[in-house]
Amino acid sequence: MKYISTRGESSPVSSAEAIKMGIAPDGGLFVPHKQPKAGSLEALINLSYPELARTIMAPYLESFSEAQIAESAQKAYNPQKFAAPDIAPLHQADEKRHFLELWHGPTCAFKDMALQVLPHLLRAAMMNTNETADALVLTATSGDTGTAALEGFRDVPGTRIIVFYPEEGVSETQKRQMITQEGKNVHVIAVKGNFDDAQNGVKAIFSHQGVREKVNARGYNFSSANSINWGRLVPQIVYYFRAYLDICRRGLINAPTPINFVVPTGNFGNILAAYYAMQMGLPVNRLICAANSNNVLTEFINTGSYDRRKNFVRTISPSMDILISSNLERLLFELTEQDAAKTSRWMEDLKETGNYTIDSKTAHALQEIFWSDYADDAETMATIRSIFDKHNYLIDTHTAVATAVFKKYLSATGDDTHTVIISTASPFKFNRSVAQSLLERQQVEGKSDFELLQTLEEKTGLPVPPGLKNLETKPILHHSTVNKDSMAEAVLEALNED
Ligand SMILES: *Cc1c(COP(=O)(O)O)cnc(C)c1O
Repeated sequence: MKYISTRGESSPVSSAEAIKMGIAPDGGLFVPHKQPKAGSLEALINLSYPELARTIMAPYLESFSEAQIAESAQKAYNPQKFAAPDIAPLHQADEKRHFLELWHGPTCAFKDMALQVLPHLLRAAMMNTNETADALVLTATSGDTGTAALEGFRDVPGTRIIVFYPEEGVSETQKRQMITQEGKNVHVIAVKGNFDDAQNGVKAIFSHQGVREKVNARGYNFSSANSINWGRLVPQIVYYFRAYLDICRRGLINAPTPINFVVPTGNFGNILAAYYAMQMGLPVNRLICAANSNNVLTEFINTGSYDRRKNFVRTISPSMDILISSNLERLLFELTEQDAAKTSRWMEDLKETGNYTIDSKTAHALQEIFWSDYADDAETMATIRSIFDKHNYLIDTHTAVATAVFKKYLSATGDDTHTVIISTASPFKFNRSVAQSLLERQQVEGKSDFELLQTLEEKTGLPVPPGLKNLETKPILHHSTVNKDSMAEAVLEALNED
């Protein structure tokens, strides 16, 4: 299987090359030329998580050996890395509503699901393409990607990672996780600006010929750990199958009864993986795209017009505070039956004018599968409280956005299909907002995020997860802050450090 660019100006490449390059030379994103099929769901039902991962990922990774794929899955999904034996446990909240917990990995958010695998795939990709240079991974993060990428890549031979995070827009806990990150090959740099500034800066570095040459001269090739890298997406397809198979295994449905997924969405990577799962044959009724007050995607799905010229709002679900959802480009390409000319035009319009409108045929195809609404901070907090009170189940702010949006979906449609809400972070990771939702003001105010971990543990009886314990006593190892225009210099400086 070959990978082609959504902009149509780059030659097709193998999966190994697509993962190694991260982004296509024409500025587009790599997608598989054809969709593989998963085959019989019954045959998958009793597989362990790593076995399922191997089975689902293999047809997308034609240029990797079976042993490489199996080993990558095994190294990622094991009890040393994940605190839950099932890796991605499904929690049934009531008759037809389930939460898929994707946050039992080392950094307590769902990005571990992909970023524990990606470094192994990348290393294998370098071997398979006879690459002699090391991989230089550049990543812009709204918080969770950075911590997860650093954990995934730390001390992986043949790789170096530089993470840029927006100075304004990550939580105290996330920031501390990053600036205390150990590993000989890791750099962490703050950018004066928001997530889009950091992401645009990284994109500009990737496409800057002069910087690229200097990086190459030092023995590195650029790569990306962002969700635009196909190696990030492919492991995410797996857990949609896992959730479906678990519901079947519990005798609640039989294949091919379709179910819904509700996905708290930012960069559109997670929900796009659900779309690819569906293309592989997973029976899906609706994909519900949940946004916070940065509701560009909701507007887009409901009207066909994308408009990023909105005020950027800082919310209590910061990993979804995004106005440009990069992975949407892949969906547009697929919905137009891989029309690169159309996709490129929309992306150019977005860049030039800040908005674009898709044609009605594409909008129709979009709305047939996707449904969207958003929840503001007040609704998010009320949802955390009500789920805890009614179900004695604690969810984080991102998961609460999804839960609130699902309630709106139910009142709008009356749909009684089994539904899986994707739970993307441990409630302890966004503990301040979670504590504010559950407790009186005086129990929260004046306390540090670290003290609040304790408070939350006492209130709920749940243990603080291993990845968040003892953060405040770890030494701070990374101190740099740069302007958004100086990110390229910072990259070259980091390579000079040793
Ligand atoms: C990254 C992230 C999201 C958004 O996922 P996308 O793939 O960017 O849409 C939602 N919740 C949490 C906790 C995240 O870390």
